[in-house]
Amino acid sequence: MLTRSALIYLSRQEGLKDFAARFSLFKKLTTRFIAGESIDEAVAAIREVNAHGCSASFDHLNESVSSTAETEAEVREYLDVLRRIDETGINSNVSIKLSQFGLEMDPELTYRNARRVVEDAARRGNFVRVDMEGSSVTQATIDVFKRLRAEFGLNDVGIVLQSYLYRTMDDARDLLKIPARIRLCKGAYNEPPEVAYPNKKDVDDNYIRVMQLLLSSGIYHGIATHDPRMIDATLEFAKRERVSKGAFEFQMLYGIRRDLQEQLARDGYGMRVYVPYGKHWYPYFMRRLAERPANIWFVLKNLWK
Ligand SMILES: Cc1cc2nc3c(=O)[nH]c(=O)nc-3n(C[C@H](O)[C@H](O)[C@H](O)COP(=O)(O)OP(=O)(O)OC[C@H]3O[C@@H](n4cnc5c(N)ncnc54)[C@H](O)[C@@H]3O)c2cc1C
Repeated sequence: MLTRSALIYLSRQEGLKDFAARFSLFKKLTTRFIAGESIDEAVAAIREVNAHGCSASFDHLNESVSSTAETEAEVREYLDVLRRIDETGINSNVSIKLSQFGLEMDPELTYRNARRVVEDAARRGNFVRVDMEGSSVTQATIDVFKRLRAEFGLNDVGIVLQSYLYRTMDDARDLLKIPARIRLCKGAYNEPPEVAYPNKKDVDDNYIRVMQLLLSSGIYHGIATHDPRMIDATLEFAKRERVSKGAFEFQMLYGIRRDLQEQLARDGYGMRVYVPYGKHWYPYFMRRLAERPANIWFVLKNLWK
């Protein structure tokens, strides 16, 4: 637990983010989890993911940007990504983080930026998933999402909820009324016990409760986890309640449990792989180490290869 908190703390150190990005040695370590720095590299990774029967979601890595010009660059990046998806014919949608579009500076600017991406995706028949970040921006993220959803369709834009937050069951009920497509994950940030379950068992129990609510809603949701217990609970519930294989999808991160990704796809379940790329990989990479500190040894071993 201490290691997880320490790694998440390090993931938030902006100075280290720039330091790490400059050294090719560090970059080499990230290849298991990050598809590369350019759209081309991400496209190549997604072709491979598609070849294994999985769909994908692009994620351009760059959180917590701090200038309007930077948010503009992020919008352009995503417009490029959407164009490249069409040009290449790969099977992928996109995931965005609102902090990338200015959420920590100006929610109105964020909404306008996100709107441009969702509008373009909707025009192309594609889909934008709004990722969920730390609890300080949960409400702001939901507020921007609701404005987008009021303007665009169910199949144009969706959101993410995290089962470690106490509020998530209420948020899920509220969002289903709109209705909205939800990706359910456990949550990747350091949260205090005032807002989030401190014990893994409670996070898992809540995951299963919210998963059951989502699968019973008749709306197409994403069940995002690598945890075999969460996956088995989902498969069991779907079987018992006669929820068809095509009525939801599983989602996993690039480079994590590829065996399980391919197995579920072979078994006929929708499987979407979240493919991060870009120069600013440091916070994302550190959160992946925090989830499984054993990865530190995996990464260090690769250094000597
Ligand atoms: C598609 C997708 C999108 C996500 N989007 C968000 C988001 O918007 N907001 C957010 O807060 N979080 C997001 N997450 C991260 C999520 O919240 C968890 O931090 C992460 O998925 C780990 O939780 P888990 O469900 O895999 O279960 P855990 O209990 O953490 O892990 C269960 C098992 O999965 C395997 N595993 C898990 N993580 C790793 C790893 N890093 N390396 C190797 N094996 C691992 C291990 O076998 C582990 O025992 C997303 C996750 C996925 C899959």
